[in-house]
Amino acid sequence: MSKSLYRGRFAPSPTGLLHAGSLCTAVGSYLEARSRGGEWLLRMEDLDPPREVAGAADDILRTLEAFGFEWDGEVVYQSRRHHLYRAALQQLIASGHAYVCCCTRKEIAARAQRGLDGYVYPGTCRRGCPDGREGRAWRLRTRDGDRVVMDRLQGESRQNLARDIGDFVLLRADGFWAYQLAVVVDDADQGINDIVRGADLLVSTPRQLQVYDSLGLAPPDYCHLPVLTNAAGEKLSKQTLAPAICVDDAARQLRAALTLLGHPPPPECGSLDELWRWAIASWSLSRVPRGPLVLSDI
Ligand code: GLU
Repeated sequence: MSKSLYRGRFAPSPTGLLHAGSLCTAVGSYLEARSRGGEWLLRMEDLDPPREVAGAADDILRTLEAFGFEWDGEVVYQSRRHHLYRAALQQLIASGHAYVCCCTRKEIAARAQRGLDGYVYPGTCRRGCPDGREGRAWRLRTRDGDRVVMDRLQGESRQNLARDIGDFVLLRADGFWAYQLAVVVDDADQGINDIVRGADLLVSTPRQLQVYDSLGLAPPDYCHLPVLTNAAGEKLSKQTLAPAICVDDAARQLRAALTLLGHPPPPECGSLDELWRWAIASWSLSRVPRGPLVLSDI
């Protein structure tokens, strides 16, 4: 990590309301930033309108506010930053890192092997689309060889992008920007030098490192917090019907989140403010468990 001011962020997608898992991620990233005297930015990742829930972005902000999170600067909305993603894609095309792809999902499914995150793109359009076919999506060229992720909590992991993921999408056939491109463009543009987020995204990190590399940018440091699961071992999410957190009982829920993150809060703690002060002063990543956390009491 460079000596410059620590700058972290929380980047929710408004595809649902905050649940206990996203609260834990927000708490962990906030405490890591504040305990290191750094900044904490908030970015709404609203680039996928078909998956978004009406009102969720505002609800997430109100919930974070009610929990006492204080972010630095204005909230950034990805939906207002298309020009930045377009410029990055232009750069990747000009440097030969990105290429246009005409394949449909069906065509890919018929030819491809399954990899670590869906089908591994078989490279059909790597040397150009077949004659008479129109380009639909833009992909980033991956290369053979291990990409190493050094994570402060999860340790070292490796992924061979060409073999396990394949050339991945930057601009989707439906015209929407892919998360893998937008997240890197924004983190770089906002000067984020440390990313604390859920371990479900660890599988994406090598792709993002590749985007940093291809754009000639220095990557941030990473720390992936354990995901929260229900009693059946499924990650809490909209798909597993995780209940939205309710702001009425914020102090109790913050205490529960801290406990899950390995930080039993003090037995006596009045206001939310006091709880945050205590949490910032006593936060240490070394107490956070690495493995999945089973939700029992939040
Ligand atoms: N928007 C992503 C999500 O809600 C998180 C992106 C990130 O932290 O890199 O899952």
